[in-house]
Amino acid sequence: MKTTLNLLMNEIDDFYRNIEESSFIPKVSPTEIRDHLHSHYDFTEPVDFKKLFKDVAGMMRKWNIHVTHPRYFGLFNPAVKVASVVADALVALYNPQLATWSHAPAANEIEQFTLKFLLSHFGFNPDTSVAHFTTGGAEANLSAVIVALTEKFPDFETKGLRGVPSQPVFYISEEAHHSFHKIAHITGLGRDSLRTVAVDSSLKMDSNDLIKKIKYDISLGHTPFMVVGTAGATSSGIIDELPLLADICSEYDLWFHVDAAWGGAAVLSPRLKPFLEGIERADSITCDAHKWLSVPMGAGMFFCRHQQALARAFRSTAIYMPQAVQETSDFYLTSIQWSRRFIGLKLFMTLAELGRDGIIQLINHQTAMGEELRDLLRKNGWAIINDTPLPLVCFTHERIDKGEISTRFIIDRLYEEQKVWISETCLMDKMTVLRACITNYRTQQRDIAILVDELNKLVCR
Ligand SMILES: *Cc1c(COP(=O)(O)O)cnc(C)c1O
Repeated sequence: MKTTLNLLMNEIDDFYRNIEESSFIPKVSPTEIRDHLHSHYDFTEPVDFKKLFKDVAGMMRKWNIHVTHPRYFGLFNPAVKVASVVADALVALYNPQLATWSHAPAANEIEQFTLKFLLSHFGFNPDTSVAHFTTGGAEANLSAVIVALTEKFPDFETKGLRGVPSQPVFYISEEAHHSFHKIAHITGLGRDSLRTVAVDSSLKMDSNDLIKKIKYDISLGHTPFMVVGTAGATSSGIIDELPLLADICSEYDLWFHVDAAWGGAAVLSPRLKPFLEGIERADSITCDAHKWLSVPMGAGMFFCRHQQALARAFRSTAIYMPQAVQETSDFYLTSIQWSRRFIGLKLFMTLAELGRDGIIQLINHQTAMGEELRDLLRKNGWAIINDTPLPLVCFTHERIDKGEISTRFIIDRLYEEQKVWISETCLMDKMTVLRACITNYRTQQRDIAILVDELNKLVCR
């Protein structure tokens, strides 16, 4: 067994040490991988474990984009702290069952302890609010819609949408995450029940358009029930005017959900927290530890002010399940999942190992690297399109605007060169721009300089 475990230890050590040397943007066809699998495995004869390990680790290295590389400026996929990797291995080893408190008291309490810390940072009362871990932001957003429907429409719980006298409708901005379209479908609300509110010139939800759409829906006899504000939009990193949205929600008696899947981590930094003002007035919040807090997927979190509504939304009775223990809650009764992995340990161990200053440094360093990138791009003639304090930069160049060179061409060349990974996105449905996000606590000035160098080479005449 020791030999087997050493394989893992060496792999972890070697990958952390040598990630910068590895090529990290693979060019591989599905056929190449399928042929490899078919020629090596058929699950008939047992495979020697050492050989198996080497082969699998090799495939992981060779045929995945390494999102933990310091020059992956990508899609909210962080570099992971080694504490969180070890935590996930411990979870696999003990395999605690978090469905009920009584099956995993230690694990349940560690999670609640961690979530209460975040609840207070969000400005919620940790004693009266509730929170749980989810697979990710999409599940947390789904939870929000289900709990909001349960709270706002008393018959929804038993009769479903057929028991709701008029069509419930809810609102996101053009910059919001697209999981809400699927959620509208999954919940039976229907995709047409989701209203997309325009954004203003700074890409924030346009509150005038929101009010206009709410009034129009009411005039048609529909029932608005929820507004989703975004704190750190996926394309642009924009934070909506949360206090304004909170006001509108109180005026029209709507559930106020803040999707802070990536940006929520900013509340841990005293410097950034003011930018999320208004989040403390939300009815519920989505935040992913696997976006900015340097832990592996999936570690979503759902925070909610309404304990009763949550308990109603996910209630159940199952004779085979262990009895509840006083003053604790069982996650199979307060969340979508049933059997549940100990998701929270990797976050607990990461935060505990870092300590307050380390946590602030983790957030602030990445933010500073974002500023560094903005400055360097501007100095080199690039134009920054988005205005956010968070480390996500959308940018373009006059040669792109003039149609002399396309963002696609730039992206493809960058991937070929294997030195940096960035993406492109479309803002306001019309403007294609380049997008680079700092997601790695190990990204340094040097990496930013390489990125801008590579970009400059491609646009120079
Ligand atoms: C990533 C993201 C989501 C979806 O979260 P997953 O963890 O990928 O399920 C939702 N909202 C926003 C704003 C996001 O950035």
